[in-house]
Amino acid sequence: MSENLGSALSNVISGIIQRNQENLKINDGDFVGDDGLLHCAKCGKPKQFAAEIPCTGCENGNDGGKLLIWTPCLCEDIELKRQEADEKKRKDIERIAELRKISLLDKKYESATFDNFIINPFNERNLKLCRRYAERFDEMKSKNQGLLMWGNVGTGKSYAAACIANHLLNEKIPCIMTSIVRMLQLIQNNGSEEAVLISRLSHIPLVIFDDFGTERNTDYALEKIYNIIDSRYRSGLPMIVTTNLTFSEMQNEPDIRYSRLYDRIFECCYPMQFTGDSFRKKTAYDKFNDMEKFIEAE
Ligand SMILES: [Zn+2]
Repeated sequence: MSENLGSALSNVISGIIQRNQENLKINDGDFVGDDGLLHCAKCGKPKQFAAEIPCTGCENGNDGGKLLIWTPCLCEDIELKRQEADEKKRKDIERIAELRKISLLDKKYESATFDNFIINPFNERNLKLCRRYAERFDEMKSKNQGLLMWGNVGTGKSYAAACIANHLLNEKIPCIMTSIVRMLQLIQNNGSEEAVLISRLSHIPLVIFDDFGTERNTDYALEKIYNIIDSRYRSGLPMIVTTNLTFSEMQNEPDIRYSRLYDRIFECCYPMQFTGDSFRKKTAYDKFNDMEKFIEAE
């Protein structure tokens, strides 16, 4: 064996010996078995294995033979796996919190999930579609398939969209959900935000424009809105739009400044109508009924 190779090998071996010293923990009751290896008192499994090593020359103090190398026994292995799982969980929680921060998702929607959505005959089909959309988002993303959720106030459009957002965030898939109005405010408050926002809109896997088209805007604002929608459209990544406008209102919009915006949305979003009683009215109705019962109770 050449002197260089011998010295390199000798370094590797001293590395192994050092790691052995760091990792090998000898506990009360651990014993040397018939195989000459140290065994764990608890599980009985070896904490070492014997590796054959070549001779690297007497000057290195190593004449070859067997080297005992640390290996986790059964209980150490379980503990190591538990530590790894804990570490992964901690990192996941950190990552999800970070993604939530940039998602701009409103606090009131943080707990929106498909499991706590109250299903009624009006929303059942839509919810099924939304759940499937979230669960098979990779496919939707590759097809650049978006959704246009339209319908009256309080029929659960935003809530359904938030369920999709939360599902993706929990899977560590970045998404943004906010209103165009809020995006405009962000841009107005801080000029440099515009570039940051536009760049995010171009690469975040899903963007949800909530409460779209609620008010008529100035030419300046409309230009910014067009830029926002258009940069998303051009990214080739899906968007979800929730709006109180009706589908025919959007289709028959005579004003070109608006219709060109709607055309962008129609091109990549599947329209879903949300119908039924307003959730907000329903909650008020339930409260009223509760009070009636309360008053009438003996
Ligand atoms: Zn053990």
